[in-house]
Amino acid sequence: MAAADAFRALPSVDELLTRLAPLTARYPRSLVAEEIRRALDRARALIRAGKPAALDVEREVAAALEALARPSLRRVINATGVVLHTNLGRAPLGALTPIAGYSNLEYDLAEGRRGKRDVHAGPALERLLGAPAIAVNNNAAAVYLALAGLAGGAEVIVSRGELIEIGDGFRIPDIMRASGAVLREVGTTNRTHVDDYREAIGDRTRLIMRVHPSNFRIEGFTARPGAGELAALGRERGLPLYEDLGSGCVADLRGFGVDEPLAGASLAVGVNLVSFSGDKLLGGPQAGILAGDAALVGQLRRHPMFRALRLDKLIVQALEETARRLVLEQYDAIPALRMIRATATEIRARAEAFAAGIAGAEVIEGVSVIGGGSTPAQTLPTWLVALAGDAVKMEKRLRSSQPPVIARIENERVVLDLRTVFEGEEADLLRAASS
Ligand SMILES: *Cc1c(COP(=O)(O)O)cnc(C)c1O
Repeated sequence: MAAADAFRALPSVDELLTRLAPLTARYPRSLVAEEIRRALDRARALIRAGKPAALDVEREVAAALEALARPSLRRVINATGVVLHTNLGRAPLGALTPIAGYSNLEYDLAEGRRGKRDVHAGPALERLLGAPAIAVNNNAAAVYLALAGLAGGAEVIVSRGELIEIGDGFRIPDIMRASGAVLREVGTTNRTHVDDYREAIGDRTRLIMRVHPSNFRIEGFTARPGAGELAALGRERGLPLYEDLGSGCVADLRGFGVDEPLAGASLAVGVNLVSFSGDKLLGGPQAGILAGDAALVGQLRRHPMFRALRLDKLIVQALEETARRLVLEQYDAIPALRMIRATATEIRARAEAFAAGIAGAEVIEGVSVIGGGSTPAQTLPTWLVALAGDAVKMEKRLRSSQPPVIARIENERVVLDLRTVFEGEEADLLRAASS
């Protein structure tokens, strides 16, 4: 009986449309009606479940329409200290004004005729790496293109210790299968020698592949030939060596505690082709860079899949900007590099000034991490602002502030690492942390 009454008490769609007239003035009427129907369905389900409409249909409709109108992808403040945070878009982009109208994307201004989009980021990348370079959507696409273009239908030799999974479905054996290349595994998980590669070379071999085991380390009784040794074997047997470097460090960051292989160093010891991500240690947008011998790069540039994997103009602009800054050694203009290069002393000074504005906050020693699958074993010393109060509630409140603040909890306290917070974000962060 109670349920029947509750069903009857529900207003009709038309009644609600009349009551919600202010909403139909702001949103398409059909959209409002659709949200009303959904809210009424939810109300009926609640009644059937014996929880007679604890639901405020009108408020729900208004909230649903507001959510539809609000951008889903938003800026957040990254106070985690993870520089290349996979969930927060990896390398943060600096101030870049996207070209709003037309551009000379594929137009040669000097000659007044059709050009190629490669000419924008390509020359700066070539200067950085010392070899011709092209770019595709991401490094997964670069690996795919390299395998399909250089070894489709033939064998590629890879060490068992390098058959990695990066996360979100990127596994070397799977991408190999998808590319049409045939995986020839050699060695063991912990030890592989040059002779293992040598013995596996046969009539069907087209490529030797070396993969940087980005996000894990094999320790103990291990062996892995150097890139130079493998390159020498490749030269001896007329086979190119391709190295998937993963994070692809271009600027030397060893002085800042980051010991990642340099892309240029691999090419210098004879690796014929390298690939790496644009949004890891390069500090740019999502992209996959392929660089190396002109003949190989040209072959991949002409492959039909290159067109399917090519960069959008927004990315071309951001990648060109990043590569140009790197050539000019303007490292501080690249946010990820500026963050990595910030010293603990600098961060401590910022943290102390910041903490002074928050009751109960304390500045403590801690570590930042690079993230993005780079340098899993390496951390950067930092100073954290530890907040007083219930950590779980505080973390949630920060996350729901505007802009959202993402922080971590350590020893039952919310801690903020200013390494990954832009200076211009400190006022917003202070407001969120002290409210
Ligand atoms: C990150 C990574 C990839 C995937 O790169 P995306 O740019 O994310 O597609 C591939 N290989 C290695 C070794 C990596 O570290």
